[in-house]
Amino acid sequence: MSVLVVGSVAYDGIETPFGKVDRTLGGSATYISLASSYFADPINLVGVVGNDFQSNDLQLLKDKSIDLEGLQIDKSDKTFFWAGKYHFDLNQRDTLDTQLNVFEKFNPVIPKTYVDSKYVCLGNIAPSLQSKVLDQVNNPELVVCDTMNFWIEGAKDDLVETLKRVDVLIINDSEARELAENPNLIKAAEIIRDMGPDSLIIKKGEHGAMLFTDSSIFSAPAYPIVDIYDPTGAGDTFLGGFVGWLAYTNDLSDDNMRRAVIFGSVLASYCVEEFGTGRLKKLTSEEINERYLEFRKLSEIPEYI
Ligand code: AMP
Repeated sequence: MSVLVVGSVAYDGIETPFGKVDRTLGGSATYISLASSYFADPINLVGVVGNDFQSNDLQLLKDKSIDLEGLQIDKSDKTFFWAGKYHFDLNQRDTLDTQLNVFEKFNPVIPKTYVDSKYVCLGNIAPSLQSKVLDQVNNPELVVCDTMNFWIEGAKDDLVETLKRVDVLIINDSEARELAENPNLIKAAEIIRDMGPDSLIIKKGEHGAMLFTDSSIFSAPAYPIVDIYDPTGAGDTFLGGFVGWLAYTNDLSDDNMRRAVIFGSVLASYCVEEFGTGRLKKLTSEEINERYLEFRKLSEIPEYI
Protein backbone atom coordinates (compact mmCIF):
# COMPACT_ATOMS: atom_id res chain seq x y z
CA MET A 1 0.00 0.00 0.00
CA SER A 2 1.22 3.49 -0.77
CA VAL A 3 2.20 5.97 1.93
CA LEU A 4 1.98 9.74 1.50
CA VAL A 5 4.45 11.59 3.71
CA VAL A 6 4.30 15.36 4.24
CA GLY A 7 6.76 17.27 6.40
CA SER A 8 10.07 19.08 6.53
CA VAL A 9 13.16 18.16 4.53
CA ALA A 10 16.09 19.85 6.19
CA TYR A 11 19.74 20.24 6.87
CA ASP A 12 20.50 19.83 10.56
CA GLY A 13 23.42 20.90 12.74
CA ILE A 14 23.60 18.53 15.71
CA GLU A 15 25.72 18.55 18.84
CA THR A 16 25.56 15.79 21.46
CA PRO A 17 28.00 14.81 24.23
CA PHE A 18 29.43 12.31 21.72
CA GLY A 19 30.19 14.58 18.79
CA LYS A 20 29.06 17.26 16.42
CA VAL A 21 27.97 17.58 12.79
CA ASP A 22 27.53 20.99 11.18
CA ARG A 23 25.20 19.99 8.40
CA THR A 24 23.54 16.69 7.74
CA LEU A 25 20.37 15.55 5.99
CA GLY A 26 17.35 15.72 8.31
CA GLY A 27 13.77 16.89 8.57
CA SER A 28 10.62 15.12 9.72
CA ALA A 29 9.59 13.90 6.25
CA THR A 30 13.09 12.55 5.62
CA TYR A 31 13.11 10.41 8.77
CA ILE A 32 9.50 9.25 8.28
CA SER A 33 10.12 8.30 4.64
CA LEU A 34 13.39 6.47 5.29
CA ALA A 35 11.84 4.47 8.15
CA SER A 36 8.66 3.55 6.28
CA SER A 37 10.65 2.60 3.16
CA TYR A 38 11.75 -0.58 4.96
CA PHE A 39 8.15 -1.85 4.77
CA ALA A 40 5.95 0.05 2.34
CA ASP A 41 6.14 0.83 -1.35
CA PRO A 42 5.80 3.41 -2.80
CA ILE A 43 6.57 6.20 -0.35
CA ASN A 44 5.26 9.44 -1.84
CA LEU A 45 7.17 12.36 -0.34
CA VAL A 46 5.77 15.89 -0.32
CA GLY A 47 8.05 18.67 0.90
CA VAL A 48 10.30 21.47 -0.26
CA VAL A 49 14.06 21.96 -0.56
CA GLY A 50 16.11 24.95 -1.68
CA ASN A 51 18.93 25.81 -4.06
CA ASP A 52 21.58 24.29 -1.78
CA PHE A 53 20.10 20.78 -1.66
CA GLN A 54 22.76 18.25 -2.63
CA SER A 55 22.27 15.78 -5.47
CA ASN A 56 23.72 12.97 -3.34
CA ASP A 57 20.94 13.54 -0.77
CA LEU A 58 18.32 13.34 -3.54
CA GLN A 59 20.01 10.14 -4.69
CA LEU A 60 19.92 8.68 -1.18
CA LEU A 61 16.14 9.13 -1.07
CA LYS A 62 15.74 7.73 -4.59
CA ASP A 63 17.88 4.71 -3.68
CA LYS A 64 15.35 3.92 -0.95
CA SER A 65 12.58 3.94 -3.61
CA ILE A 66 11.11 7.15 -2.21
CA ASP A 67 9.12 8.89 -4.93
CA LEU A 68 10.17 12.54 -5.28
CA GLU A 69 7.57 13.89 -7.70
CA GLY A 70 6.04 15.80 -4.77
CA LEU A 71 9.34 17.25 -3.57
CA GLN A 72 9.37 20.89 -4.67
CA ILE A 73 12.74 22.48 -5.46
CA ASP A 74 12.49 26.20 -4.76
CA LYS A 75 15.55 27.88 -6.27
CA SER A 76 14.76 31.24 -4.66
CA ASP A 77 16.18 30.34 -1.24
CA LYS A 78 18.03 27.76 0.82
CA THR A 79 16.75 24.53 2.40
CA PHE A 80 15.22 24.67 5.89
CA PHE A 81 18.03 24.57 8.47
CA TRP A 82 17.72 23.52 12.10
CA ALA A 83 20.43 23.22 14.75
CA GLY A 84 20.15 21.65 18.19
CA LYS A 85 22.34 20.72 21.11
CA TYR A 86 21.72 17.84 23.50
CA HIS A 87 22.87 17.83 27.10
CA PHE A 88 24.49 15.08 29.13
CA ASP A 89 20.93 13.87 29.73
CA LEU A 90 20.00 13.25 26.11
CA ASN A 91 16.32 13.95 26.89
CA GLN A 92 17.19 17.63 27.15
CA ARG A 93 17.62 19.51 23.87
CA ASP A 94 18.14 23.18 23.10
CA THR A 95 17.26 24.53 19.68
CA LEU A 96 20.20 26.72 18.65
CA ASP A 97 18.99 27.88 15.27
CA THR A 98 15.94 27.62 13.02
CA GLN A 99 16.19 29.09 9.52
CA LEU A 100 12.90 28.42 7.76
CA ASN A 101 14.16 29.57 4.33
CA VAL A 102 12.04 27.87 1.60
CA PHE A 103 9.94 26.18 4.28
CA GLU A 104 8.41 29.54 5.26
CA LYS A 105 6.37 29.66 2.04
CA PHE A 106 5.75 25.91 1.84
CA ASN A 107 2.42 25.10 0.25
CA PRO A 108 1.91 21.34 0.09
CA VAL A 109 0.64 20.48 -3.37
CA ILE A 110 -0.26 16.81 -3.74
CA PRO A 111 0.55 15.50 -7.24
CA LYS A 112 -2.31 13.72 -9.04
CA THR A 113 -0.41 10.44 -8.81
CA TYR A 114 -0.43 10.70 -4.98
CA VAL A 115 -4.07 11.62 -4.28
CA ASP A 116 -5.14 7.99 -3.91
CA SER A 117 -2.39 7.16 -1.38
CA LYS A 118 -4.00 4.83 1.14
CA TYR A 119 -1.90 5.76 4.16
CA VAL A 120 -1.34 9.43 4.91
CA CYS A 121 1.35 10.54 7.29
CA LEU A 122 1.15 14.18 8.41
CA GLY A 123 4.58 15.12 9.75
CA ASN A 124 5.07 17.98 12.14
CA ILE A 125 4.01 21.06 10.13
CA ALA A 126 1.41 23.81 10.75
CA PRO A 127 -1.99 22.19 11.43
CA SER A 128 -3.58 24.43 8.75
CA LEU A 129 -1.19 22.88 6.19
CA GLN A 130 -1.99 19.39 7.48
CA SER A 131 -5.68 20.12 6.80
CA LYS A 132 -4.78 21.42 3.36
CA VAL A 133 -3.13 18.07 2.60
CA LEU A 134 -6.26 16.19 3.71
CA ASP A 135 -8.38 18.42 1.43
CA GLN A 136 -6.41 17.07 -1.54
CA VAL A 137 -6.50 13.29 -0.93
CA ASN A 138 -9.26 10.79 -1.79
CA ASN A 139 -10.55 8.51 0.94
CA PRO A 140 -7.35 7.38 2.66
CA GLU A 141 -7.49 4.17 4.69
CA LEU A 142 -5.61 5.75 7.60
CA VAL A 143 -4.46 9.27 8.51
CA VAL A 144 -1.65 9.44 11.06
CA CYS A 145 -0.57 12.78 12.48
CA ASP A 146 2.31 14.22 14.48
CA THR A 147 2.41 17.63 16.15
CA MET A 148 4.39 19.48 18.82
CA ASN A 149 3.96 21.96 21.70
CA PHE A 150 4.71 24.88 19.34
CA TRP A 151 1.41 24.22 17.51
CA ILE A 152 -0.50 23.23 20.66
CA GLU A 153 0.40 26.63 22.13
CA GLY A 154 0.27 28.75 18.97
CA ALA A 155 -2.37 27.19 16.70
CA LYS A 156 -4.66 25.14 18.93
CA ASP A 157 -7.89 25.99 17.05
CA ASP A 158 -6.36 24.85 13.74
CA LEU A 159 -5.00 21.74 15.41
CA VAL A 160 -8.41 20.85 16.89
CA GLU A 161 -9.90 21.17 13.37
CA THR A 162 -7.20 18.89 11.89
CA LEU A 163 -7.64 16.31 14.66
CA LYS A 164 -11.29 15.80 13.71
CA ARG A 165 -9.98 14.23 10.46
CA VAL A 166 -7.15 12.17 11.97
CA ASP A 167 -7.27 8.43 12.80
CA VAL A 168 -4.06 8.12 14.83
CA LEU A 169 -2.27 10.91 16.68
CA ILE A 170 1.31 10.34 17.85
CA ILE A 171 2.68 12.76 20.46
CA ASN A 172 4.90 12.66 23.52
CA ASP A 173 3.72 12.66 27.13
CA SER A 174 4.22 16.37 27.86
CA GLU A 175 2.42 17.30 24.62
CA ALA A 176 -0.49 15.01 25.55
CA ARG A 177 -0.87 16.69 28.95
CA GLU A 178 -0.69 20.12 27.34
CA LEU A 179 -3.16 19.34 24.56
CA ALA A 180 -5.70 17.78 26.95
CA GLU A 181 -5.01 20.28 29.72
CA ASN A 182 -4.93 17.34 32.11
CA PRO A 183 -1.91 16.04 34.04
CA ASN A 184 -3.11 12.41 34.11
CA LEU A 185 -2.04 10.57 30.95
CA ILE A 186 -4.95 8.13 30.97
CA LYS A 187 -7.49 10.94 31.31
CA ALA A 188 -5.55 13.02 28.78
CA ALA A 189 -5.76 10.13 26.30
CA GLU A 190 -9.54 9.98 26.74
CA ILE A 191 -9.89 13.72 26.18
CA ILE A 192 -7.69 13.68 23.07
CA ARG A 193 -9.51 10.69 21.56
CA ASP A 194 -12.75 12.60 22.03
CA MET A 195 -11.25 15.33 19.82
CA GLY A 196 -11.23 12.96 16.83
CA PRO A 197 -8.43 10.37 16.65
CA ASP A 198 -9.68 6.79 17.19
CA SER A 199 -6.24 5.83 18.40
CA LEU A 200 -3.56 7.71 20.26
CA ILE A 201 0.08 6.87 20.79
CA ILE A 202 1.89 8.60 23.61
CA LYS A 203 5.68 8.36 23.34
CA LYS A 204 7.57 8.43 26.61
CA GLY A 205 11.13 8.74 25.32
CA GLU A 206 13.42 6.23 26.99
CA HIS A 207 10.43 4.75 28.84
CA GLY A 208 8.60 3.34 25.82
CA ALA A 209 5.21 4.19 24.35
CA MET A 210 1.51 3.65 25.04
CA LEU A 211 -1.20 2.88 22.50
CA PHE A 212 -4.79 3.78 23.32
CA THR A 213 -7.53 2.34 21.13
CA ASP A 214 -11.28 1.79 21.54
CA SER A 215 -10.77 -1.63 23.04
CA SER A 216 -7.50 -1.52 24.98
CA ILE A 217 -4.39 0.16 26.29
CA PHE A 218 -1.04 -1.30 25.21
CA SER A 219 2.23 -0.43 26.89
CA ALA A 220 5.33 -0.98 24.75
CA PRO A 221 8.73 -1.22 26.41
CA ALA A 222 11.73 0.87 25.43
CA TYR A 223 14.78 -0.92 24.07
CA PRO A 224 17.74 -0.69 26.48
CA ILE A 225 20.22 0.94 24.10
CA VAL A 226 23.82 1.27 25.15
CA ASP A 227 25.10 2.96 21.99
CA ILE A 228 22.99 6.09 21.89
CA TYR A 229 24.71 8.95 20.05
CA ASP A 230 22.02 11.24 18.67
CA PRO A 231 18.27 11.22 19.44
CA THR A 232 17.40 13.56 16.53
CA GLY A 233 14.57 12.18 14.43
CA ALA A 234 13.71 9.29 16.76
CA GLY A 235 10.07 10.45 17.04
CA ASP A 236 9.69 10.81 13.27
CA THR A 237 11.38 7.47 12.73
CA PHE A 238 8.92 5.84 15.14
CA LEU A 239 6.09 7.34 13.09
CA GLY A 240 7.60 6.06 9.83
CA GLY A 241 8.09 2.53 11.17
CA PHE A 242 4.55 2.49 12.59
CA VAL A 243 2.86 3.65 9.37
CA GLY A 244 5.16 1.61 7.15
CA TRP A 245 4.24 -1.63 8.90
CA LEU A 246 0.50 -0.87 8.76
CA ALA A 247 0.72 0.01 5.07
CA TYR A 248 2.72 -3.15 4.31
CA THR A 249 0.24 -5.41 6.08
CA ASN A 250 -2.92 -3.33 5.40
CA ASP A 251 -4.34 -4.69 8.65
CA LEU A 252 -5.72 -2.24 11.22
CA SER A 253 -6.66 -4.79 13.88
CA ASP A 254 -5.67 -4.13 17.49
CA ASP A 255 -2.99 -6.82 17.42
CA ASN A 256 -1.45 -5.42 14.27
CA MET A 257 -1.48 -1.87 15.67
CA ARG A 258 0.53 -3.29 18.58
CA ARG A 259 3.01 -4.85 16.16
CA ALA A 260 3.26 -1.49 14.39
CA VAL A 261 4.10 0.24 17.68
CA ILE A 262 6.90 -2.27 18.23
CA PHE A 263 8.23 -1.85 14.66
CA GLY A 264 8.15 1.93 15.20
CA SER A 265 10.13 1.43 18.41
CA VAL A 266 12.59 -0.89 16.63
CA LEU A 267 13.32 1.66 13.90
CA ALA A 268 13.64 4.50 16.44
CA SER A 269 16.03 2.45 18.57
CA TYR A 270 18.34 2.02 15.57
CA CYS A 271 18.01 5.67 14.52
CA VAL A 272 19.70 6.96 17.69
CA GLU A 273 22.75 4.72 17.29
CA GLU A 274 24.44 7.12 14.83
CA PHE A 275 24.29 10.80 13.94
CA GLY A 276 21.48 12.04 11.70
CA THR A 277 20.18 9.46 9.24
CA GLY A 278 23.49 7.52 9.35
CA ARG A 279 22.15 4.31 10.87
CA LEU A 280 18.68 4.50 9.41
CA LYS A 281 19.83 4.54 5.81
CA LYS A 282 21.80 1.29 6.04
CA LEU A 283 19.53 -0.97 8.08
CA THR A 284 18.73 -4.49 6.95
CA SER A 285 15.49 -6.44 7.26
CA GLU A 286 17.36 -9.04 9.33
CA GLU A 287 18.38 -6.39 11.87
CA ILE A 288 14.80 -5.12 12.08
CA ASN A 289 13.35 -8.58 12.60
CA GLU A 290 16.03 -9.51 15.13
CA ARG A 291 15.28 -6.48 17.29
CA TYR A 292 11.53 -7.07 17.01
CA LEU A 293 12.10 -10.45 18.67
CA GLU A 294 14.26 -8.84 21.35
CA PHE A 295 11.40 -6.41 22.05
CA ARG A 296 9.03 -9.34 22.49
CA LYS A 297 11.37 -10.97 25.00
CA LEU A 298 11.73 -7.70 26.92
CA SER A 299 8.13 -7.72 28.03
CA GLU A 300 7.43 -11.43 28.48
CA ILE A 301 5.54 -11.85 31.73
CA PRO A 302 5.66 -15.37 33.21
CA GLU A 303 2.37 -17.10 34.00
CA TYR A 304 0.96 -16.62 37.46
CA ILE A 305 1.66 -19.86 39.36
P1 AMP B 1 12.60 15.05 16.30
O1 AMP B 1 13.95 14.76 16.89
O2 AMP B 1 11.78 13.80 16.08
O3 AMP B 1 11.90 16.13 17.04
O4 AMP B 1 12.83 15.61 14.82
C1 AMP B 1 13.95 16.36 14.47
C2 AMP B 1 13.81 16.84 13.06
O5 AMP B 1 12.77 17.84 12.99
C3 AMP B 1 15.08 17.51 12.57
O6 AMP B 1 15.60 16.76 11.51
C4 AMP B 1 14.67 18.92 12.14
O7 AMP B 1 15.15 19.25 10.87
C5 AMP B 1 13.15 18.90 12.13
N1 AMP B 1 12.58 20.13 12.67
C6 AMP B 1 13.03 20.88 13.71
N2 AMP B 1 12.22 21.96 13.90
C7 AMP B 1 11.23 21.88 12.98
C8 AMP B 1 10.08 22.68 12.66
N3 AMP B 1 9.79 23.82 13.33
N4 AMP B 1 9.27 22.28 11.65
C9 AMP B 1 9.55 21.14 10.98
N5 AMP B 1 10.60 20.37 11.21
C10 AMP B 1 11.45 20.71 12.20
